[in-house]
Amino acid sequence: MSVATVACDPTLAKIEEKIAAGDSLSFEDGLALYATRDLHTLGRLAREQKQRKSGDRVYYVLNRYINSTNVCYAGCTFCSFAADEFKEKARVFRMTPDQVFEKALETGRNFNQLHIVGGHDPRQLSLDYWLPLMRRFKAELPHVQLSLFTAAEIDYMARRHRLSYPAIVAQLKEAGLDNVNGGAAEIFAEETRKKICPNKVTAAQWLEVHEELHRQGVASNATMLYGHIESIEDRIDHLIRLRDSQRRSPGFNAFIPLAYHPDGNELSYCGWTGGIDDIKTFAVARLMLDNFDHIKAYWMIQGLHVCQVALEFGADDMDGTHGSTDEEMIYHAAGTRSGQYVDDREFRRLIENAGYMPVRRNSTYQTFAHDWNPDA
Ligand code: SF4
Repeated sequence: MSVATVACDPTLAKIEEKIAAGDSLSFEDGLALYATRDLHTLGRLAREQKQRKSGDRVYYVLNRYINSTNVCYAGCTFCSFAADEFKEKARVFRMTPDQVFEKALETGRNFNQLHIVGGHDPRQLSLDYWLPLMRRFKAELPHVQLSLFTAAEIDYMARRHRLSYPAIVAQLKEAGLDNVNGGAAEIFAEETRKKICPNKVTAAQWLEVHEELHRQGVASNATMLYGHIESIEDRIDHLIRLRDSQRRSPGFNAFIPLAYHPDGNELSYCGWTGGIDDIKTFAVARLMLDNFDHIKAYWMIQGLHVCQVALEFGADDMDGTHGSTDEEMIYHAAGTRSGQYVDDREFRRLIENAGYMPVRRNSTYQTFAHDWNPDA
């Protein structure tokens, strides 16, 4: 080992040896990574792991993002988005299938991913609503991958239609589902989960939905909501459960750390996450999740500048343009300071300024020339 690569924190030196030997990191290693003040070595280890996975490439996607309804009665304590149809009439919205379709095409056809999530709305979250709409998208926009739902939404529809997970996944796949979003994972640790989202899928159900998707060839992503009442132990436990799930049934493409936002919800006393915590979380995730190909720094959540720095701490993806001026409502209701839209030229500039090579992708990481256009 050269002098230049010796870790200042001796614990990190031992972890570096494990990584070099190809061993997965343990629960205790994860705690040590979070505890270190040696940010430079932590960043170097995560960056080297990123380089082994994706070299100098950093990905982005031209996409459209839509929240199709905010009607929801799950009552998650960190949520500022959900609205009660009967008590909050002024805040409620519910898009029709035609409105979703028109919204997706509002700024043209040149995009490769449609990302839609919404509340657990008894009137919208059903196969009768979604299957025809998905088929319409596939018929009219064959170059667009459908990244729809979270595991919680799929579980809700399965219970509503009295279908098993294999049966509902088969129907969604047949209608054109390419990828399922990583939300609703929150924190798997049961005691904490009960306090923040007691009416949502359990951790075991969330993992089972994703494992069934993967068995049937539908890709997905995974997330972790951090910076609220969870402990560092909860975070490491969460990452290890994801790693174990990926071993059982591979198919996760990217892991996305989601920083809790405090405006307008019951956990607002927890405040905002700090830059050090954000950066460490990207690095720890990159090092713990050795069987995930991508770690995404989602600019909407931590902000463009922190996400650019995250590229030096293991992240290799900056998510998408979004393509509209008013569509993301979940994080905007909770106070995000990010805007609604980032031009793809801005992504390329930020990535190149960080010393990496921007690569345009779709949901499943097929790549495109930056000026690819479906109408060309
Ligand atoms: S986080 Fe999702 S499931 Fe929970 S209350 Fe908000 S909209 Fe509903």
